[in-house]
Amino acid sequence: MTDRLKDKVAIITGAGSGMGAAMAKLFTAEGASVVAADLNKDRVDEVVADIAKDGGKAVAIKTDVSEEDDIQAMFKLANDEFGKLDIVVNNAGIMDNMAPVGNLTDEMWKKVFAVNTDSVMYSTRAAIKEFLPKKQGVILNIASVGGTNGGRAGVAYTASKHAVVGLTKNTAYMYQNDGIRVNAIAPGGIKTNIAESMGKNVDKFGFERQSQGMGASPEPGTAEEIANTALFLVSDEARYVNGAVLPVDGGWTAY
Ligand code: NAD
Repeated sequence: MTDRLKDKVAIITGAGSGMGAAMAKLFTAEGASVVAADLNKDRVDEVVADIAKDGGKAVAIKTDVSEEDDIQAMFKLANDEFGKLDIVVNNAGIMDNMAPVGNLTDEMWKKVFAVNTDSVMYSTRAAIKEFLPKKQGVILNIASVGGTNGGRAGVAYTASKHAVVGLTKNTAYMYQNDGIRVNAIAPGGIKTNIAESMGKNVDKFGFERQSQGMGASPEPGTAEEIANTALFLVSDEARYVNGAVLPVDGGWTAY
């Protein structure tokens, strides 16, 4: 390892599984101290125990990112435990049930927006309050190819991730002269536990429509491949990268 995040403090949401866990492990291996937040406390405790075994510094916190009070507690923990905050990765997210708008329930729309989008707004607002006075800070949002293209999920997920892209670009632009960088990764198909959040009530029509695009997708990527990209974007090596939405999808959206 090369200490690319030496002395940095990072918050990572959804750190109990998949990409969030991979980022927590890689960032700590590269010298960062990490607040690992997840709704699933058992899983995130395991991730933090693994990190400690490898000599890394991380602390777990049970967080529902759709609740602003929980977001505030997560920010407070970074300062209480590590004395500062440099990096925020808004990664926690859930799938919808692939429903197109004609079959969409209000409940699905609200749930997916609360977890995928409201969360990023609460966290970005809190991060800006923290970063603006010191004119320094990095935010990384995990969006999706569903945030750039129309046929990768149902309407709730697609719209929620398009909103994350908008949040990323607007915030990057607004604070570009304040030492704050905001970028997003748009992952393609990545082997994680995300399908667990889809539930059993998958919309047949929507699922078939989105499946048509799957033929153009290469083999799924790994959470570690997303973590490697994230490491670059949050490090000082990416000092001049701001407002970018980087597809990490093996070329899926290149056609
Ligand atoms: P994952 O299910 O393996 O991990 C997501 C984590 O988020 C889980 O540990 C879960 O407990 C946590 N989480 C869910 N709801 C939460 C809440 N309300 N508060 C706090 N934590 C919560 O999935 P993943 O694939 O690693 O997903 C990470 C991000 O990547 C998500 O935003 C997802 O939309 C995005 N993404 C995934 C893929 C893919 O193919 N896996 C593709 C594009 C984008």
